[in-house]
Amino acid sequence: MELSTDAGRLTVITGPSGVGKGSLVRELLKSHPQIWLSISATTREPRVGEIEGKDYFFLQKDRFLQLVSDGGFLEWADFAGNSYGTPRKPVLDHLSQGQPVLLEIELEGARQIRKNSPDSFHIFLAPPSFEELENRIRGRETDSDEAIQKRLFRAREELNAKDEFDAVIINDDLQDACYQVEELMGFTTKKEGL
Ligand code: ADP
Ligand code: 5GP
Repeated sequence: MELSTDAGRLTVITGPSGVGKGSLVRELLKSHPQIWLSISATTREPRVGEIEGKDYFFLQKDRFLQLVSDGGFLEWADFAGNSYGTPRKPVLDHLSQGQPVLLEIELEGARQIRKNSPDSFHIFLAPPSFEELENRIRGRETDSDEAIQKRLFRAREELNAKDEFDAVIINDDLQDACYQVEELMGFTTKKEGL
């Protein structure tokens, strides 16, 4: 199905686990509350502090698969042992109201969105180095060793695909990366001192 959107209104942010996508999106929403961030469904267990309906919709596998077969997801993918999907209807509703919509999803899902919505804009967030990525995943202290290994394995695959994206931003300094995303999304805010 082809998604009809206004050019530039649907933005996708992808990047390896631990690169700082969540941190960047939180910063972005603070200064641009008009952006609507899609809340994904996942079969992953909630992490400490995560809230149902705010961070994710946490679903049992059978309910997730039911939604897949009902066509309830715009895209979905398996990642590091769990399934993740973007609920279709709220995204289409917000786009049809003319709101900028942001998806923070992994590579396979981004590819599906690209296929169905050629005018969506895709940003890849990259780490300054693989070592720094590993430090960030470990420093977050949210994942088991096994989960970290799966995420690092997948990270190499994702990093190899970065040229598929419309823009690649290196998340070295978070504020600077956030500023670059703002510019790409067409929200030009003046940096202090400029
Ligand atoms: P993701 O959502 O991509 O998995 P997170 O936003 O959870 O990543 O960030 C992973 C860890 O890296 C967190 O502990 C976060 O505070 C840290 N982090 C994010 N951006 C930066 C940055 N620019 N410099 C240093 N640490 C960062
Ligand atoms: P985490 O378990 O760290 O929250 O997320 C793991 C990966 O799944 C991250 O790369 C995140 O961007 C991605 N993700 C989150 N929601 C979705 C979704 O709805 N669809 C897809 N394809 N990936 C998602």
